[in-house]
Amino acid sequence: MIVCKSREEISAAVDKIRRQGRSLGFIPTMGALHQGHISLVKKSIADNDCTAVSVFVNPTQFNNPNDLKTYPRTVDADIALLEQTGADIAFIPSVETMYPEGLENVTESYDFGAIGAVMEGAARPGHFNGVGIVVHRLFDLVKPDRAYFGMKDFQQIAIIREMVRQRNIDIEIIPCPIVRETDGLALSSRNTRLNPEQRNQAVQISQTLFKAADLGQTRSIADLKSFVIDTVNNVPLLEVEYFEIVDGQTMQPVANWDDADWIVGCITVNVGDVRLIDNITLKQ
Ligand code: AMP
Repeated sequence: MIVCKSREEISAAVDKIRRQGRSLGFIPTMGALHQGHISLVKKSIADNDCTAVSVFVNPTQFNNPNDLKTYPRTVDADIALLEQTGADIAFIPSVETMYPEGLENVTESYDFGAIGAVMEGAARPGHFNGVGIVVHRLFDLVKPDRAYFGMKDFQQIAIIREMVRQRNIDIEIIPCPIVRETDGLALSSRNTRLNPEQRNQAVQISQTLFKAADLGQTRSIADLKSFVIDTVNNVPLLEVEYFEIVDGQTMQPVANWDDADWIVGCITVNVGDVRLIDNITLKQ
């Protein structure tokens, strides 16, 4: 595996792959890699001749400075895990490499319309603009045929699809299923910041979503929404930031089960100062 840090190194590595006529899959990550990330890497390895993975904690997508400061960073372990999994390229740029103009001079602006106005877009102002900026810059540098994203960040996939559509980017976006711990908790780099008691209680997030999926259309949307919010909020260390039941294509809240063919429940829960997200398909 080649480890690239500069723009020159990553460009040389991907140009070589292009010249050889080999296909390239790409997985953008913020590191602290776990089996959720690795499932994306394995899917890319299966689909493509070569696989590149970026590890970059992107400052422009953090609206909370403390979240950026405390975000787990385990670069050496990440490199070892990627090597062991069989990735071909690890791209690990510095902030200066990704933003040579300086963070205060970053000017790109994206309008994702209604897709970006709800849930994470409403709760984290500027977050999706930062995601759009960094993913577009990474796509420009890596020039993959396909890019892999986890459905854990459900709204993010819709944002990336919209960016690719708006900017006419010729990259196939491949959504991948959520990888969970055996008790159901969605794997997340932020899980390492939970203390044992928080970790024990955090399982109630996914367990409640599973119950909601079982209840499904036997309840009204409004009832199911209250059920999830009340059940999670009844767990002492958990506090629901939002739970929305949305159209899986448009991300807009639905009022009735007939409003969309694909309906997904999306939740964000604060566990102390750790913010966890999860989602579940309720109708498809
Ligand atoms: P992150 O490092 O959190 O920015 O995540 C990088 C990519 O890995 C994103 O596309 C995430 O959706 C994906 N990912 C993170 N956690 C999981 C998980 N538990 N299952 C599947 N994909 C995941």
